[in-house]
Amino acid sequence: MAVVLALRVFTGLAAAALAAVLLEHYGLAGSPSPAPLPQPRARRSPQPAPGPDGSNIFWGLQISDIHLSRFHDPGRAVDLEKFCSQTVDIIQPALVLATGDLTDAKTEEHLGSMQQEEEWQTYQDILKKTRVMEKTKWLDIKGNHDTFNVPSLDSVENYYRKYSALRRDGSFHYVHSTPFGNYSFICVDATLNPGPKRPFNFFGILDEKQMNKLILLDKESSRSNHSIWFGHFTTSTILSPPPGIRSIISSATAYFCGHLHTLGGLMPVLHTRHSQGTLELELGDWKNNRRYRIFAFDHDLFSFADLTFDEWPVVLITNPKSLLYNCAKHEPLDRLLHSTHIRVLAFSLFSITSVTVKIDGVYLGQAVHLSGPLFVLKWNPQNYSIRTHNIEVIVQDSAGRNKSVQHIFSVQEDNHLRFHPIASLILLTDHYIMARVFFVMIVLIQLTILIAFRYRDFPNCEGPPGFVIFTSFSLHVLSKMNIFYYSVLLLTIYTVLGPWFVGEITKGKLGCCFSFGIFVDGHFLQGSVTFAVGILQLVFFNVPLMAYLCWSLLQRCFGHNFRSHLRQGKYLKIIPVHLLMLLLFLWQAYSCFFLHLTYGTLAFLLSPLRTWLTLLTPVLIHRAWTVSPTELGTFIGQLKSYLSS
Ligand SMILES: [Zn+2]
Repeated sequence: MAVVLALRVFTGLAAAALAAVLLEHYGLAGSPSPAPLPQPRARRSPQPAPGPDGSNIFWGLQISDIHLSRFHDPGRAVDLEKFCSQTVDIIQPALVLATGDLTDAKTEEHLGSMQQEEEWQTYQDILKKTRVMEKTKWLDIKGNHDTFNVPSLDSVENYYRKYSALRRDGSFHYVHSTPFGNYSFICVDATLNPGPKRPFNFFGILDEKQMNKLILLDKESSRSNHSIWFGHFTTSTILSPPPGIRSIISSATAYFCGHLHTLGGLMPVLHTRHSQGTLELELGDWKNNRRYRIFAFDHDLFSFADLTFDEWPVVLITNPKSLLYNCAKHEPLDRLLHSTHIRVLAFSLFSITSVTVKIDGVYLGQAVHLSGPLFVLKWNPQNYSIRTHNIEVIVQDSAGRNKSVQHIFSVQEDNHLRFHPIASLILLTDHYIMARVFFVMIVLIQLTILIAFRYRDFPNCEGPPGFVIFTSFSLHVLSKMNIFYYSVLLLTIYTVLGPWFVGEITKGKLGCCFSFGIFVDGHFLQGSVTFAVGILQLVFFNVPLMAYLCWSLLQRCFGHNFRSHLRQGKYLKIIPVHLLMLLLFLWQAYSCFFLHLTYGTLAFLLSPLRTWLTLLTPVLIHRAWTVSPTELGTFIGQLKSYLSS
């Protein structure tokens, strides 16, 4: 009966959790009057289409996750200086978007975090020395590293306000005006305020007020030919209230971001498309990979290329654009069919000597220089009106350097290509929701097992008992002995509800960290990374500890004490169990050390889930091995009856 009841409770809770998540995910819960969603722009005429004119085109650059560091890799700064001088001089972008993590803000041993004024001074020195702000519009925004340990926006620690080009906290709208229309660049600032130290600073948060501001900025941009939104975080790492950040930016042609650093090289390309049509284009980091991006609007057709610093020539085919990145909702794609020329932007340290164009492997001709970096070649798109085709452009400069780029294009609007499914999964999954669901599920499963076995009778066993019976038996013993039952129950419930530690969350501000979020200085920062940390705690400590206690109690019921169970000779079975528990215990002990490094001595001392648990665990394990045989009496009798059956 008890099992059935526990199962019912568990199923009910799980269903409620799932329903809440789905409601939140699809924006059905929360705000009673959801904000009006952006409307697609009015459809533009097929003219002017790309032709032999030098106008109706501009381009810009993006750079992300620079991580200037006073301790590591001085090359980041050296190369950034060269980027701001040489690269910017050659490419002459209309604007440069620097999408956060301008500085590294870590301590020397790489584990702790704090703002390092020296890093910010280096950044400002580079901007000043290269005069890049006079050459182009340099839009630099904050990333999570730029807000590590910043107690408030007004604090002196907020060096972004002192040393950046923009010095402007919060989201904003920048308009790039051209004779052929306005182009909106809207920054999404989801960095945390106050900014906790690492690692609880990985996700961005937008509150109701910030969302309303973004809706206003979106309205302001509605008359622009295009809007590009940009921010540090991917949309999958931003917590936002309904209708959610992706709905707010659905009027954008593309959202540019950084933050994920190619996932340590695992995903060199992280691009996808939202269900509302907006492209989400994460850019790899400058820190280790020296990536940057060139993007262009040519007759309102959007194109871009992700590049590696100091590799020349730089080539971008602006017409015909890549089919994969078509944005039918915002681009006048029929201009492609009406275009008279293939258009290519080509830049190099030396003069460009040839721009060769091939379609489907067939030589089409040499593009001629029009003006600046623009090269054009006459073509008849009608010849390619069916199916998709491959365009290849080979650019050579006078130093003999070659660069070949190619992509699939289509002059019809009804052809589509799919993005890499893993990239889409990474960029379109709301990771904090996933973490929350997994966390709750693990807790519910553990609690259900614990409670069910406490109130359930020992099962009958016919024939010699096997692994399942022994496991079930040991769970009965653990759950039916008050000291172990209440210890494990308390630990699980405490992991969910109790404060994990109290400490200096951000400079000079004490706060309290829970699984569901962090309270600091009158603010509540919703849980995100905390749930992931909670999952690690459950999977790599709480649950294994429970299993280890079960196993130890089973040994006791066999009549062993700690010494005698070692002497029974089954070393291959026994040693791995103890080693694994020791390893997990050391990991738990290391997490106390890590807490000390990241959040200081006070957090180390006032951390029930870390230091206190580390101290209490040996006591509990000792108890399991020393509990008197009389207390185990009934269980020993039960085990004997199994063994004799
Ligand atoms: Zn970064």
